[in-house]
Amino acid sequence: MKTNWIIIFFILYPLISPAQSKIVLPMQDGIICYEKDIKAAENLSRDELFNRALKWAKNSFPLSVASVKTANEITGEIEGNGVFKIVTSSSGNYYLIKFAVHIIVNDGKYTVKMTDLYEKPIEKGISNEYSKIGYRWWDYRQGKPWSPEDQVLFSQIDVHITGLLTALQREMTSPSAAPKFKVLALYTTTVESDHVDFAKDAIRFYRKMAAKDDFVFDTTTNWKNLNDEGLKKYQVVIWLNDFPQNETQRQAFEHYMKNGGAWLGFHVAGYNDQYTKWPWFVDFFGGAVFYNNNWPPLPARLIVDDNHHPATRHLPSAYISTLNEWYGWKPSPRENKDIKVLITLDPSNYPLGKKDIIRNGDIPVVWTNTRYNMLYMNMGHGDQIFNSATQNQLFEDAVIWLGTKSKKQ
Ligand code: ZN
Repeated sequence: MKTNWIIIFFILYPLISPAQSKIVLPMQDGIICYEKDIKAAENLSRDELFNRALKWAKNSFPLSVASVKTANEITGEIEGNGVFKIVTSSSGNYYLIKFAVHIIVNDGKYTVKMTDLYEKPIEKGISNEYSKIGYRWWDYRQGKPWSPEDQVLFSQIDVHITGLLTALQREMTSPSAAPKFKVLALYTTTVESDHVDFAKDAIRFYRKMAAKDDFVFDTTTNWKNLNDEGLKKYQVVIWLNDFPQNETQRQAFEHYMKNGGAWLGFHVAGYNDQYTKWPWFVDFFGGAVFYNNNWPPLPARLIVDDNHHPATRHLPSAYISTLNEWYGWKPSPRENKDIKVLITLDPSNYPLGKKDIIRNGDIPVVWTNTRYNMLYMNMGHGDQIFNSATQNQLFEDAVIWLGTKSKKQ
């Protein structure tokens, strides 16, 4: 944006002469103030609007230090400073204009205010301090400009600020881009309360992410939606804290996965034992059968086996995960040639637990079956799972990887 306006300025410059009429800039309470209430594009969530406004602020003022001072998602307020440059004469003199930006995003609309203008003249290479532009503006309006360049200065201030406002308006009123992919997250509210807490946190986390990363995130507690028709429009299916309960749902899921759909399972979603009697799932899951767990839930050190994979590429080679109930498996999915283990419980955690203790074993925590578009993550117990920024990056990258990899149209 900035570059464009500088180019336009050079086109306009020869047309502006001191003979032109006085400039009228909008004022409020005696100072220059541009304020606009603008209706946003329909169907854009407040989160989406907030992210767009923030993007505009960051892109418009890339040169100013701390251009965005506050960005509060809860109040929808963004405050910062913008700086732009105005060349006023062919001798190379120019002004830096600094001003305050304040945006408040609401449902379906937003208000933007640009005020508190300061000028900093740079004359023949001599830099002055910033001072309130109000002094110069006052005299200009009284017909006593400080310099013949005032006319150009004020008209260019108007051009710049109006241009910035137009760019913001364009950002906030353009229709939503087609989402990159659609995710359906299934969960149950009548299971173990720690598993319900996790599902609720996950939904909050992924909703926010969906607005930021342009995908659709739908949720349901109705597992009957696990049928061909219900899955048709989704590229990714997530099981947050449960699994299909009957043959019909199981078959629909198998069909979905065999046809290129993608799956992300958390924690208990991968639970299976001798009573499960779903051989297809056990094979899909890499042969891993639930063996043991630690109790109570505890944080653990995890080894990242491969941090070049798209899902783990932002992770360090090891990190401390948040408090979780960790599952052990027998056999370990690592023994399956189709399984690629991405993260493993570090044996240095053993003995892990107080009541139920994991004492040994090779315990993969995150893995994928390379024959499918699937990823399993053992995290998913309790309300602290999303307390690690490092690990949150894994949750984000995992969904983006699966959404992009899914063959489901
Ligand atoms: Zn659990």
